[in-house]
This record gives sequence, structure tokens and C-alpha cells, in this order.
Amino acid sequence: MGSEMCIRDRAMSLPMPMGTRRVECGGTCLRCLSSARSRVTTGFMGENILVLDAGTTSTRAILFAADGALIRVAQRDLTQHYPRPGWVEHDAGEIWDRTLACAREAIGDDADSIAAIGITNQRETVVAWDKKSGQPLARAIVWQDRRTAEFCAGLKDQGHEPDVQARTGLLLDPYFSATKMRWLLDHDEAVRGASERGDLAFGTVESWLVFNLAERAHVSDASNASRTLLLPLDEEQFDPALCELFGVPRESLPRVVDTHGALAECSEEWFGRAIPICGLVGDQQSATIGQACLEFGQTKGTYGTGAFVLTNNGRTIPRSTHRLLGTVLSQRDGERVYAIEGAAFVAGSLIQWLRDGLGLIESAAETEDLARSIPDSGEVVIVPALAGLGAPHWLPQARGVIAGLSFASGRAQLARAALESMAHQTHDLATAFAADGAPWSMLRIDGGMAANDWMAQDLADMLGIDVERPDFVETTALGAAFCAAVGVGLYPSLEDAAQAMRGKTRCFRPRIDEDARAERLARWRKALAAA
Ligand code: ADP
Repeated sequence: MGSEMCIRDRAMSLPMPMGTRRVECGGTCLRCLSSARSRVTTGFMGENILVLDAGTTSTRAILFAADGALIRVAQRDLTQHYPRPGWVEHDAGEIWDRTLACAREAIGDDADSIAAIGITNQRETVVAWDKKSGQPLARAIVWQDRRTAEFCAGLKDQGHEPDVQARTGLLLDPYFSATKMRWLLDHDEAVRGASERGDLAFGTVESWLVFNLAERAHVSDASNASRTLLLPLDEEQFDPALCELFGVPRESLPRVVDTHGALAECSEEWFGRAIPICGLVGDQQSATIGQACLEFGQTKGTYGTGAFVLTNNGRTIPRSTHRLLGTVLSQRDGERVYAIEGAAFVAGSLIQWLRDGLGLIESAAETEDLARSIPDSGEVVIVPALAGLGAPHWLPQARGVIAGLSFASGRAQLARAALESMAHQTHDLATAFAADGAPWSMLRIDGGMAANDWMAQDLADMLGIDVERPDFVETTALGAAFCAAVGVGLYPSLEDAAQAMRGKTRCFRPRIDEDARAERLARWRKALAAA
């Protein structure tokens, strides 16, 4: 508003700069938005947002008010199928049934209060279904599934990786969707038959849910589509040459749409009235948006079983030379914002191992008191390569190391070293991101481990940047809520949605000096070499 201020603005009681005029803002200033929010919470205005969060181990539905307040949550577990070592499957019919049941439970009698639906989902998981019958043709192949490792290695041997990486931002790894699609075509008769009849539909989980909700619309949003190996980062739709390389028929794929906007309409059949679907976004991108990392360099780290870090790269297509991934963060009206992504395979699972594998602690939370009970780890360093090392090292064969043991090393030193290893791994990621042109301006953390205050402070100390943690930790669902709210026009931009819906945060500022930091990193590097 420049030198104008809304007559209802909060700052009214404060002295105004000279020459400021009081005007009616038309409902866009903070004061007007917050009074609109209190109206919305009463549920009469149709400004609530329903988020469907279809995760890996469970699926949930969350009803948010327009100010981000949580109204109702419903959750159902998903059955994990492990037919062979390295294989992980889901029943796509179960994903749909349970997501629908959660949605109905979360909505209750409030269907009229909902302005829009947002969907966020486990990424890369592939569903194959029959376009005509609408029925799944095979079990969904989950992102964790490694069955296409050999196929990927073959493509690498043929020298395809540099070109694929340059175009899609991804590496040739079974993690991504395309080789899973190809596997289904090669090994599942029902999938092949549907393909021959022209009835085959492939999609990631958001695509499958929209197909069911919205009268067979076959779409996928750009953030999910950018995880398939079939979408060039600078092209609007799936690329025929990439489809050919991976052997995926182009006509079986969905149309790529924005992450926020009027994307599809949920049929009246499910919730008693038609509701627009205005947000579709993969889980890690959603958490990045939910953490309001909306400007270049803003970074989020999710510390769950593993650690997923994404940095906003603005409108510039990421070109990593450090084996980080380039991905679409969001897309509106065809305009994309990109992110750089890196993951460490082992984070909270290390703490779980201390508890269940070694019996060293009774609960994960206990590590915080143990770490505080001593001034340092007594030179104990843990390299948590229990399942190989992820970005930026990419050493799947690496194994864990505990270095620097002495008779003075006890459970406190081990617990502290375990927590310290999170900051060490994150520091290596930060270095690689900076080398790829995306230095972190700050880090916003979430996930189960982020509850650990000691670890949060240690991250700030070792990275030398502010580490922020939101009070409301459901950042993945919140990101999809921002997308849906903007997509339906409740807020003009993701920044506005974040300002209105995000809530309070706590900041951890760096405290230790350079020498102490350098000493710890030197010990870490030495131990890393042994892994
Ligand atoms: P995911 O979504 O990957 O299943 P969560 O985000 O729920 O994981 O985080 C759970 C992980 O966080 C567990 O591995 C657990 O060991 C770890 N964890 C939970 N609370 C703490 C804590 N206070 N300190 C350290 N680690 C914790």
C-alpha cells in the first residue's frame, strides 16, 4: 500500500510515518485478512480447505480453516506389501478407499464450508489402471522399490545418464517412476493387455486420486511429473523421446497441469457437492511450500526416517554437478519455480537403531537429555551409513562407522554423536548445494526429529545459519493447503497464503565459534573416509 494504510490495519495504534493516508484496503491487509479468518473458522463462508495427504505408510485427510487452523483430521494406515527383497507395493484400490474414508470423516457435516481440495502425496510411486473400467491393473510400485536397478544400470552403461540428467534434473535410479512403468509393461499381462487395447493409464498417486474424484480426469501436476524421468524441466508436457528411451507409451500418461489453480472438479457423488480441486503437489515440494521457502535460497529439511532437503532455486532450472536433483517446486499458469533436492538416507532411523538395535535408549526423545548431559561427544563420531550414503556422496555400498571410541565413551557420548551426525550430514549437503549455485540463506526444519531442541541448535551451530522450526509441524499438509487456497482465489499468492496460514515459528541462532566448528568437521571427514 506504499504510503497508504488501511483504516483497519493492526498498526493503527502505532505512530504512522509522515504523510501516510488511511484508506480502505479492500480486504487485503493483515487486519482485514485476520478478521476474515475469524469468520471463516465459524465455517459459514465456504473458505475451509480440505487436504488429502496420501503418504507412504498412511493416508490422511485434514480440514483447515483459511487461517491455517486445524479443524479435523482423519487417518488410516496403508498395507505395505513386500513380495520379495527390495520390492515394495501398495494396493491402489486401498489407497483410494481409505483416502475417501478419511476425507468423509474429516469433512463431517462441513461439506458446504469447503472452498477447495488440495492433494499431496508420496512421490514416484506408480499406479497402472484401466481407463475404461477405472480399476487398478496391478499393485502400485512404491518409490522405495529397487526392482529396476539392473535396467537403470543398463541405461547408465549405455551412457544415457548425462543427457537424462540435463533434461529432467534426475539420475538413472529405480527411485523414479519411468522404469517402474516399464517394468509393469514388461512383466504384467493385464498392464500390457490394457496398453494394447489403448486403455492403459499410468499415474502417480495424486493422478490416481484425481481420476477417481473427478470423473476420470487424467492429470498429474508438474511437481509430481518432474519425478518420473519423463518430463524435461523446461517443457510443459511429457517428452516423446524420453518416453521412447524408457519404453513408456506417451498415450498412457496424464496431462501435466499446474500445482495450483483450477485443476479439476471433485464430483458431487463423493461429498454431496462438487468441490474444486485447486492444489496438487508432491510431498517434499509441499513441505517446502508449507515451510514458506518461497524465495531463492530458502531451504527446508525434513528429518524423519531419512532427511530430505530442498532449496528454492527460483525460476532458474537447476543444473547440478554434485549429483543433487533438480525438480519442479511449483507451477502456476505454466510458470515454474524450481528446487534443488538432496537426501540423506539415514536420519531418525539411526536413533531408532540406538533404541531397538542396541537397546541404548528407551525413547528417541531421551537423546536430547543425554546430549545435554556432557560438554562434547568425547571425540566419538558416528557416520550413519547404515543403508549406504545418499547425497552428495552417493555411495550405496558404504557402511556405518563409529570412530573415536575410548573407555570414557558411554551411552551419552553415543547419543550425542548420533545427533551430531545429522548436522554433519546436513553440512555436507549445504556445501554441495552452495557449489551448485544455491547457497542456503536459512534452514527450516520439520519431521519427527525436529522436535529435538538440542539437534536444532546443533544444526544452527554447524551450518552457521538460522534454523527455524514451526510450531505447527504438519508442513506437508500445510503446503497443499496453501496451494489449494491460492488456486481457488482465497489468497493472491503462496506468499500471502503463507503469511495468513503458517503460524508461529521458533528460531535457533548459531552460537559456536569457527574453531570449534572446524574441529568437529575435521573429525567428521576423517570418519567419513573410513566409511
Ligand atoms: P517418517 O515420517 O519418516 O516416518 P517421522 O517424521 O515421524 O518419520 O520421524 C520419526 C523419526 O524421528 C524416528 O526415526 C525417530 O527415531 C525420530 N525421532 C522422533 N523424536 C525424536 C527426538 N525427540 N529426538 C531424536 N529423534 C527423534
